[in-house]
Amino acid sequence: MSGELHQMGVAGLAKALRERKVSAVEAAQHHLSRIRDHQDLGAFVALDEQLTLTQARAADARIAAGSASPLEGVPIAHKDIFVTADLPTTAGSRILAGYRSPFDATVVRKLAEAGAVTLGKLSCDEFAMGSANENVAVPAIGFDHAVPVRNPWNTDRIPGGSSGGSAVAVAAGLAPAATGTDTGGSIRQPASFCGVTGIKPTYGRASRYGMVAFASSLDQAGPMARSAEDCALLLSAMCGPDPERDSTSLARPAEDFSRSLGDSLDGLRIGVPKEFFGEGVAPGVRAAVDAALAQYEKLGARRVEITLPRTELSIPVYYILAAAEASSNLSRFDGVKFGHRAKAYRDLADMYAQTREEGFGDEVKRRIMIGTYVLSHGYYDAYYLQAQKVRRMIADDFQQAFAQCDLIAGPAAPTVAWKLGEHGGDPVADYLADIFTLPASLAGLPGMSVPAGFDGAMPVGIQLIGNYFAEAKLLNAAHAFQQATDWHLRTPAGF
Ligand code: GLN
Repeated sequence: MSGELHQMGVAGLAKALRERKVSAVEAAQHHLSRIRDHQDLGAFVALDEQLTLTQARAADARIAAGSASPLEGVPIAHKDIFVTADLPTTAGSRILAGYRSPFDATVVRKLAEAGAVTLGKLSCDEFAMGSANENVAVPAIGFDHAVPVRNPWNTDRIPGGSSGGSAVAVAAGLAPAATGTDTGGSIRQPASFCGVTGIKPTYGRASRYGMVAFASSLDQAGPMARSAEDCALLLSAMCGPDPERDSTSLARPAEDFSRSLGDSLDGLRIGVPKEFFGEGVAPGVRAAVDAALAQYEKLGARRVEITLPRTELSIPVYYILAAAEASSNLSRFDGVKFGHRAKAYRDLADMYAQTREEGFGDEVKRRIMIGTYVLSHGYYDAYYLQAQKVRRMIADDFQQAFAQCDLIAGPAAPTVAWKLGEHGGDPVADYLADIFTLPASLAGLPGMSVPAGFDGAMPVGIQLIGNYFAEAKLLNAAHAFQQATDWHLRTPAGF
């Protein structure tokens, strides 16, 4: 059985564990050996096999004692943006080199309480800033230098970002599931590029406590796994109020997001925004998404043409607001309390400056400068305030659209994964790739990417966006599609 362990998915593995057909230690060992075999992908940045096996043994003991926890013994890897007490946390940055958190992020703790076994930490773009997982400043395991993460569907291509390590871990069968975070698309876009399923819940459903902050009004945690069914299991464990630790976590109680899996899609109105099919969308991506929409019609859904007229504006709006928030959030990295401190400096101000010069990568510095600029006197009204107003209008556009439809669908990204280095350090080329994920982020809406076919040899994801708190509806729509198709079961050759 162990040959297939990495293809069983979370639900299948959890069941096999409960039925004692496989032990948590076997499941952990199987994935650990795959991680070692495929470390060239650069997906993992921290691994502690003894820790994983100790947790797996504890899970086996709980299973023997009759544990009914939904994820008991299931190995899960975490994006290295979640702080963990037992493993280092770098957020992909040199500035956090050597940092060890005294506590676990709420999401990490909740998954552990549901029985999950930690497989290690996954590479991501520095402070989650990126669309390709090329902005990494810390070494992956097996390397003595920083490396970009490689897409298992074609190792000359990027996996997407910033949760690229998470998407690759799932796509390559190194982990049954992984956590990710999405500020402007970092769960949905890499899920699309790697052919896995990922969901970002409504802003505020998952606690941000212990998630290294990038843009606090946008950051959300979510699961990445093979199927919607698996994502529902994980998301149910991850969400829930955390009032003492995250003031923006919503009072909405935890939910069983699997509850509507299997509901009929008869009469479901799927809104298709014309702006998501314009110029710049690769013909192969459009074809795959069109075919997926046709499949939805076969399942009983109805296609409704809608408009999200400010889609293009979401790029400047996001890159102003996210940078503004980042410039403030990242001011805490000054060499005093966390991680790296410059060795040589003249005085206190110079210590801050040298530490930040050495510790931050180019993209992070760029965002801090843009953010500081748009918040400065004289520019605040012209940029920051204006962007806030347009953000509200983007959210209002969605509410108008949801008067006509139940869900919105379109491509998760305009293209498939591009080649490593193809954007040649041009940040704007990366920013433009976020055009279809940013609107839902700015509005705080839940969104997911579901494998929907291929353009050439590379996976394409269909994005589904729901209204606030419509996660169960989204997951059901994705599940119904996955019951009728096998895109999510395809695996890259050699994995
Ligand atoms: N690509 C976007 C950025 O670079 C989104 C990143 C994210 O969602 N964390 O900011």
